[in-house]
Amino acid sequence: MPDTSEKPRCTNAEPGTFNHECGKPAAWIGTTEAGHEAGFCDDCKRRGWERHGRTFRRIGDPS
Ligand SMILES: [Zn+2]
Repeated sequence: MPDTSEKPRCTNAEPGTFNHECGKPAAWIGTTEAGHEAGFCDDCKRRGWERHGRTFRRIGDPS
């Protein structure tokens, strides 16, 4: 079994996709004002529906 715990996936889901998540390797963590964190790839950080209202930090950077 591959260990995927070190590789967060992009969880962005577009409207109308029935919450189908992007699933690409995440390069960013997006945090909402309420403090909920989710992984985002480069594309979804730029254009993803769920990017709104989030603060991003690059995965691997000191927070
Ligand atoms: Zn994505």
